[in-house]
Amino acid sequence: MEQLGRVLCIITGASRGFGRTVAKEMARLVKPRSVFIVVARSGDELRTLKAELAESDLEVRCVVVDLSLTEAPEMVVRAAKEASSPDIEHLILVNNAASLGDVSRFTKSFTSMAEVNAYLSSNVSSALCLTASVLQAFPEQSGLRRCVINISSLCALKPFCSWVLYCTGKAAREMMFKVLAEEEPDLRVLNYAPGQLDTDMHILARTQTGELSFRKMLSDMLDNGQLVTCETSCAKMMKLLLEDKYTSGDHIDFYDI
Ligand code: NDP
Repeated sequence: MEQLGRVLCIITGASRGFGRTVAKEMARLVKPRSVFIVVARSGDELRTLKAELAESDLEVRCVVVDLSLTEAPEMVVRAAKEASSPDIEHLILVNNAASLGDVSRFTKSFTSMAEVNAYLSSNVSSALCLTASVLQAFPEQSGLRRCVINISSLCALKPFCSWVLYCTGKAAREMMFKVLAEEEPDLRVLNYAPGQLDTDMHILARTQTGELSFRKMLSDMLDNGQLVTCETSCAKMMKLLLEDKYTSGDHIDFYDI
Protein backbone atom coordinates (compact mmCIF):
# COMPACT_ATOMS: atom_id res chain seq x y z
CA MET A 1 0.00 0.00 0.00
CA GLU A 2 2.49 2.63 -1.11
CA GLN A 3 0.56 3.88 -4.11
CA LEU A 4 1.19 7.58 -3.58
CA GLY A 5 4.93 7.04 -3.82
CA ARG A 6 7.59 8.85 -1.80
CA VAL A 7 5.70 12.02 -0.96
CA LEU A 8 6.34 15.43 0.40
CA CYS A 9 2.95 16.14 1.94
CA ILE A 10 2.05 19.51 3.43
CA ILE A 11 -1.22 19.61 5.38
CA THR A 12 -2.62 22.79 6.91
CA GLY A 13 -5.01 22.55 9.84
CA ALA A 14 -3.58 19.15 10.82
CA SER A 15 -4.00 19.65 14.57
CA ARG A 16 -7.57 18.32 14.64
CA GLY A 17 -10.65 17.49 12.61
CA PHE A 18 -10.39 16.54 8.96
CA GLY A 19 -6.78 17.67 8.50
CA ARG A 20 -5.55 15.39 11.26
CA THR A 21 -7.38 12.44 9.72
CA VAL A 22 -5.93 13.24 6.29
CA ALA A 23 -2.41 13.14 7.76
CA LYS A 24 -3.00 9.74 9.36
CA GLU A 25 -4.72 8.17 6.35
CA MET A 26 -2.22 9.58 3.87
CA ALA A 27 0.61 8.14 5.97
CA ARG A 28 -0.71 4.63 5.23
CA LEU A 29 -0.43 5.14 1.47
CA VAL A 30 3.11 6.43 1.08
CA LYS A 31 6.55 4.94 0.75
CA PRO A 32 8.94 4.92 3.72
CA ARG A 33 11.00 8.09 4.20
CA SER A 34 8.18 10.24 2.91
CA VAL A 35 8.05 13.70 4.46
CA PHE A 36 5.02 15.20 6.23
CA ILE A 37 4.81 18.89 7.10
CA VAL A 38 1.89 19.45 9.46
CA VAL A 39 0.76 23.01 10.08
CA ALA A 40 -1.54 24.65 12.65
CA ARG A 41 -1.45 27.00 15.66
CA SER A 42 -1.80 24.27 18.31
CA GLY A 43 1.71 22.96 18.90
CA ASP A 44 0.80 20.28 21.45
CA GLU A 45 -1.74 18.66 19.13
CA LEU A 46 0.72 18.73 16.23
CA ARG A 47 3.44 17.14 18.36
CA THR A 48 1.07 14.36 19.43
CA LEU A 49 0.24 13.77 15.77
CA LYS A 50 3.94 13.71 14.95
CA ALA A 51 4.52 11.01 17.57
CA GLU A 52 1.67 8.95 16.10
CA LEU A 53 2.96 9.33 12.54
CA ALA A 54 6.53 8.55 13.56
CA GLU A 55 5.46 4.95 14.13
CA SER A 56 5.55 4.70 10.34
CA ASP A 57 8.93 5.35 8.73
CA LEU A 58 8.27 9.02 8.01
CA GLU A 59 10.03 12.32 8.50
CA VAL A 60 7.51 14.61 10.22
CA ARG A 61 7.96 18.34 10.86
CA CYS A 62 5.52 20.50 12.80
CA VAL A 63 5.12 24.12 11.78
CA VAL A 64 3.32 25.91 14.58
CA VAL A 65 2.03 29.11 13.05
CA ASP A 66 -1.04 31.21 12.46
CA LEU A 67 -1.47 30.96 8.69
CA SER A 68 -2.77 34.52 8.47
CA LEU A 69 0.69 35.84 9.40
CA THR A 70 2.86 37.18 6.58
CA GLU A 71 5.76 34.93 7.51
CA ALA A 72 3.70 31.70 7.48
CA PRO A 73 4.33 30.62 3.83
CA GLU A 74 8.08 31.11 4.26
CA MET A 75 8.09 29.07 7.48
CA VAL A 76 6.27 26.19 5.81
CA VAL A 77 8.51 26.25 2.74
CA ARG A 78 11.65 26.35 4.90
CA ALA A 79 10.53 23.28 6.84
CA ALA A 80 9.64 21.48 3.60
CA LYS A 81 12.99 22.29 1.99
CA GLU A 82 14.96 21.21 5.07
CA ALA A 83 13.12 17.92 5.44
CA SER A 84 12.74 16.87 1.81
CA SER A 85 15.26 14.96 -0.28
CA PRO A 86 15.87 14.70 -4.05
CA ASP A 87 14.14 11.31 -4.24
CA ILE A 88 10.70 12.79 -3.51
CA GLU A 89 8.30 11.58 -6.23
CA HIS A 90 5.08 13.32 -5.31
CA LEU A 91 4.32 16.73 -3.82
CA ILE A 92 0.88 16.95 -2.20
CA LEU A 93 -0.32 20.21 -0.63
CA VAL A 94 -3.60 19.99 1.29
CA ASN A 95 -5.09 23.44 1.93
CA ASN A 96 -7.41 22.28 4.69
CA ALA A 97 -7.17 24.94 7.44
CA ALA A 98 -10.18 27.21 7.64
CA SER A 99 -12.40 28.93 10.15
CA LEU A 100 -16.13 29.50 10.13
CA GLY A 101 -15.98 33.18 11.05
CA ASP A 102 -18.82 34.78 12.97
CA VAL A 103 -21.92 32.96 11.72
CA SER A 104 -24.19 34.50 14.37
CA ARG A 105 -24.67 37.73 12.39
CA PHE A 106 -26.13 38.69 9.06
CA THR A 107 -24.40 40.40 6.14
CA LYS A 108 -25.56 43.92 6.93
CA SER A 109 -23.78 43.83 10.31
CA PHE A 110 -20.30 43.45 8.75
CA THR A 111 -19.32 47.14 8.67
CA SER A 112 -15.81 46.62 10.03
CA MET A 113 -13.26 46.42 7.24
CA ALA A 114 -10.70 45.18 9.77
CA GLU A 115 -12.90 42.23 10.77
CA VAL A 116 -13.62 41.22 7.17
CA ASN A 117 -9.99 41.65 6.13
CA ALA A 118 -8.82 39.50 9.03
CA TYR A 119 -11.15 36.69 8.00
CA LEU A 120 -10.21 36.85 4.33
CA SER A 121 -6.53 37.07 5.16
CA SER A 122 -6.73 33.92 7.25
CA ASN A 123 -8.93 31.92 4.88
CA VAL A 124 -8.22 33.18 1.36
CA SER A 125 -4.97 35.15 1.07
CA SER A 126 -3.11 32.64 3.23
CA ALA A 127 -4.08 29.69 1.00
CA LEU A 128 -3.10 31.57 -2.17
CA CYS A 129 0.26 32.75 -0.84
CA LEU A 130 1.12 29.38 0.68
CA THR A 131 0.23 27.52 -2.51
CA ALA A 132 2.21 29.96 -4.67
CA SER A 133 5.22 29.73 -2.34
CA VAL A 134 5.18 25.93 -2.34
CA LEU A 135 4.84 25.74 -6.13
CA GLN A 136 7.76 28.12 -6.58
CA ALA A 137 9.91 26.20 -4.12
CA PHE A 138 9.11 22.86 -5.78
CA PRO A 139 8.78 23.67 -9.50
CA GLU A 140 7.75 21.35 -12.31
CA GLN A 141 10.45 18.77 -13.00
CA SER A 142 10.58 15.35 -14.55
CA GLY A 143 9.81 12.57 -12.13
CA LEU A 144 7.88 14.83 -9.75
CA ARG A 145 4.09 14.64 -9.63
CA ARG A 146 2.47 17.69 -8.04
CA CYS A 147 -1.02 17.89 -6.55
CA VAL A 148 -2.80 20.72 -4.74
CA ILE A 149 -6.00 20.05 -2.83
CA ASN A 150 -8.41 22.69 -1.61
CA ILE A 151 -10.81 21.50 1.07
CA SER A 152 -13.93 23.16 -0.18
CA SER A 153 -17.61 23.11 0.74
CA LEU A 154 -21.09 23.36 -0.70
CA CYS A 155 -20.79 26.93 0.63
CA ALA A 156 -18.40 27.68 -2.25
CA LEU A 157 -21.36 27.24 -4.60
CA LYS A 158 -24.49 28.03 -2.63
CA PRO A 159 -25.39 30.97 -0.34
CA PHE A 160 -26.42 30.28 3.27
CA CYS A 161 -27.98 33.02 5.42
CA SER A 162 -25.74 34.34 8.23
CA TRP A 163 -22.67 32.62 6.74
CA VAL A 164 -21.44 35.52 4.60
CA LEU A 165 -17.76 35.29 5.59
CA TYR A 166 -17.53 31.53 5.21
CA CYS A 167 -19.43 31.36 1.90
CA THR A 168 -17.42 34.27 0.48
CA GLY A 169 -14.14 32.73 1.55
CA LYS A 170 -14.97 29.28 0.20
CA ALA A 171 -16.20 30.71 -3.13
CA ALA A 172 -13.04 32.80 -3.51
CA ARG A 173 -10.78 29.88 -2.66
CA GLU A 174 -12.53 27.62 -5.10
CA MET A 175 -12.12 30.09 -7.97
CA MET A 176 -8.50 30.65 -7.02
CA PHE A 177 -7.76 26.93 -7.44
CA LYS A 178 -9.75 26.75 -10.68
CA VAL A 179 -7.60 29.54 -12.11
CA LEU A 180 -4.49 27.70 -10.94
CA ALA A 181 -5.66 24.53 -12.70
CA GLU A 182 -6.10 26.48 -15.95
CA GLU A 183 -2.67 28.07 -15.64
CA GLU A 184 -0.66 24.97 -14.69
CA PRO A 185 -1.59 22.00 -16.86
CA ASP A 186 1.08 19.78 -15.28
CA LEU A 187 -0.48 20.25 -11.86
CA ARG A 188 -3.35 18.18 -10.44
CA VAL A 189 -5.81 20.47 -8.62
CA LEU A 190 -8.75 19.11 -6.64
CA ASN A 191 -11.50 21.08 -4.89
CA TYR A 192 -12.95 18.48 -2.49
CA ALA A 193 -16.06 19.20 -0.41
CA PRO A 194 -15.86 16.71 2.46
CA GLY A 195 -19.52 16.61 3.57
CA GLN A 196 -20.98 17.45 6.97
CA LEU A 197 -18.24 16.34 9.34
CA ASP A 198 -18.53 15.80 13.07
CA THR A 199 -15.76 18.22 14.07
CA ASP A 200 -15.23 21.32 16.20
CA MET A 201 -16.26 23.43 13.21
CA HIS A 202 -19.59 21.65 13.08
CA ILE A 203 -20.17 22.24 16.80
CA LEU A 204 -19.75 25.97 16.17
CA ALA A 205 -22.01 25.78 13.13
CA ARG A 206 -24.89 24.07 14.91
CA THR A 207 -24.68 26.22 18.05
CA GLN A 208 -23.82 29.70 16.70
CA THR A 209 -25.62 30.00 13.36
CA GLY A 210 -27.80 33.13 13.37
CA GLU A 211 -30.32 31.84 10.82
CA LEU A 212 -32.42 29.70 13.15
CA SER A 213 -33.93 27.30 10.61
CA PHE A 214 -30.44 26.58 9.28
CA ARG A 215 -29.10 26.12 12.81
CA LYS A 216 -31.87 23.60 13.52
CA MET A 217 -31.12 21.71 10.30
CA LEU A 218 -27.47 21.40 11.31
CA SER A 219 -28.42 20.28 14.80
CA ASP A 220 -30.92 17.75 13.42
CA MET A 221 -28.15 16.26 11.31
CA LEU A 222 -26.29 15.36 14.49
CA ASP A 223 -29.41 14.04 16.22
CA ASN A 224 -30.34 11.91 13.19
CA GLY A 225 -26.84 10.45 12.84
CA GLN A 226 -26.33 12.14 9.46
CA LEU A 227 -22.88 13.57 10.13
CA VAL A 228 -20.02 11.93 8.30
CA THR A 229 -16.89 10.76 10.10
CA CYS A 230 -13.61 12.29 8.99
CA GLU A 231 -12.37 8.78 8.20
CA THR A 232 -15.27 8.01 5.82
CA SER A 233 -14.87 11.30 3.97
CA CYS A 234 -11.10 11.01 3.85
CA ALA A 235 -11.37 7.51 2.36
CA LYS A 236 -13.34 8.95 -0.58
CA MET A 237 -10.80 11.70 -1.07
CA MET A 238 -7.94 9.20 -1.04
CA LYS A 239 -9.76 7.11 -3.65
CA LEU A 240 -9.96 10.19 -5.88
CA LEU A 241 -6.24 10.79 -5.44
CA LEU A 242 -5.29 7.19 -6.08
CA GLU A 243 -7.51 6.78 -9.15
CA ASP A 244 -6.33 10.18 -10.40
CA LYS A 245 -9.11 10.46 -12.97
CA TYR A 246 -10.77 13.73 -11.93
CA THR A 247 -10.50 16.78 -14.15
CA SER A 248 -8.00 19.20 -12.66
CA GLY A 249 -9.82 22.14 -11.02
CA ASP A 250 -13.10 20.25 -10.57
CA HIS A 251 -15.28 20.61 -7.49
CA ILE A 252 -16.08 17.14 -6.20
CA ASP A 253 -18.50 16.66 -3.33
CA PHE A 254 -18.48 13.73 -0.90
CA TYR A 255 -22.23 13.25 -1.48
CA ASP A 256 -21.83 12.98 -5.26
CA ILE A 257 -19.37 10.09 -5.39
P1 NDP B 1 -11.87 22.30 12.52
O1 NDP B 1 -12.34 23.62 13.00
O2 NDP B 1 -12.22 21.10 13.30
O3 NDP B 1 -10.28 22.34 12.28
C1 NDP B 1 -9.73 23.43 11.60
C2 NDP B 1 -8.24 23.25 11.50
O4 NDP B 1 -7.70 24.41 10.85
C3 NDP B 1 -7.58 23.11 12.84
O5 NDP B 1 -6.51 22.19 12.75
C4 NDP B 1 -7.04 24.51 13.09
O6 NDP B 1 -5.88 24.40 13.89
C5 NDP B 1 -6.69 24.97 11.68
N1 NDP B 1 -6.68 26.42 11.52
C6 NDP B 1 -7.75 27.25 11.51
N2 NDP B 1 -7.35 28.52 11.39
C7 NDP B 1 -5.99 28.51 11.31
C8 NDP B 1 -4.99 29.50 11.19
N3 NDP B 1 -5.30 30.80 11.11
N4 NDP B 1 -3.70 29.13 11.14
C9 NDP B 1 -3.37 27.82 11.22
N5 NDP B 1 -4.27 26.83 11.33
C10 NDP B 1 -5.57 27.17 11.39
O7 NDP B 1 -12.45 22.17 11.03
P2 NDP B 1 -12.81 20.87 10.16
O8 NDP B 1 -11.82 19.81 10.39
O9 NDP B 1 -14.25 20.62 10.31
O10 NDP B 1 -12.63 21.49 8.70
C11 NDP B 1 -11.59 21.11 7.83
C12 NDP B 1 -11.92 21.68 6.46
O11 NDP B 1 -13.15 21.12 5.99
C13 NDP B 1 -12.11 23.19 6.44
O12 NDP B 1 -11.58 23.72 5.26
C14 NDP B 1 -13.63 23.34 6.44
O13 NDP B 1 -14.04 24.58 5.88
C15 NDP B 1 -14.02 22.16 5.57
N6 NDP B 1 -15.40 21.72 5.72
C16 NDP B 1 -15.84 21.29 6.94
C17 NDP B 1 -17.14 20.86 7.08
C18 NDP B 1 -17.68 20.35 8.38
O14 NDP B 1 -18.87 19.95 8.42
N7 NDP B 1 -16.90 20.33 9.46
C19 NDP B 1 -18.09 20.87 5.94
C20 NDP B 1 -17.49 21.31 4.70
C21 NDP B 1 -16.20 21.72 4.62
P3 NDP B 1 -5.46 25.37 15.10
O15 NDP B 1 -6.71 25.86 15.76
O16 NDP B 1 -4.60 24.48 15.93
O17 NDP B 1 -4.69 26.45 14.43
